Amino acid sequence: MPASPTPTLADFATLQAKALLVHERLCAQYGAPFRFFNELDALSELISSLLSHRTKNADSHRAYQQLRARFPTWDAVRDAPTAEVEAAISPCTWPEQKAPRLQAVLREIGERCGGPCTLDFLADMPVAEARAWLESISGVGPKTSAATLLFSTLRIAAMPVDSHHHRVAQRLGLIGPKVGEGPAHKLLEALLPPDWDAQQVYDHHEAFMYHGQKCCYFHTPACGRCVVLDQCPFGQARLGGVVKL
Ligand code: SF4
Repeated sequence: MPASPTPTLADFATLQAKALLVHERLCAQYGAPFRFFNELDALSELISSLLSHRTKNADSHRAYQQLRARFPTWDAVRDAPTAEVEAAISPCTWPEQKAPRLQAVLREIGERCGGPCTLDFLADMPVAEARAWLESISGVGPKTSAATLLFSTLRIAAMPVDSHHHRVAQRLGLIGPKVGEGPAHKLLEALLPPDWDAQQVYDHHEAFMYHGQKCCYFHTPACGRCVVLDQCPFGQARLGGVVKL
């Protein structure tokens, strides 16, 4: 069986140019720059992100609000009887698993910090180091670490890849068909200019996510009205090779 060809520097440069072109079109289509959707500190963002795993936004938001209302600090959540934490986050999926998990994460952070739980010190680390610190916590993957750094008030330029973003990038050929959401983070981030700030990285993620929600649907993508159809082998194949722009 022949070995698969190794991507060349020219291939990579072509992919980078394509990622930027798609970025510009999608940002124009969906109205970038986008406003950051909340103002949580990094630890609160991490907890919110852990609650949101496989949960509808409205339900995880309600669980988060109930948890904040029930306990005055994250240290109090850590030290509370697990049943009370579980009851507070009951609107989200699997509260019986997430309650002990949250407490374990808070314990680990508290032990490593040697004081009250906080993640504010991540602001002083290079992005890669801050991501590695977060991902060394059991159960924290690349999407959660990037969301914690980017969506929180730290506003650090780390890019999360959610299921919409992943699907759009895959159909466009920015990543291979077998690359999962986790490994996609490094590959897609490598295509972005290294000097992009948090707003640019956020716009990129949001634009891809909106495209997945509003056009590149999971079951029947609306390729006929897609602004990046000419860049998309998947869409062109669906439409029988006819590029309409
Ligand atoms: S052409 Fe179709 S498959 Fe490709 S990005 Fe657009 S909507 Fe998605």
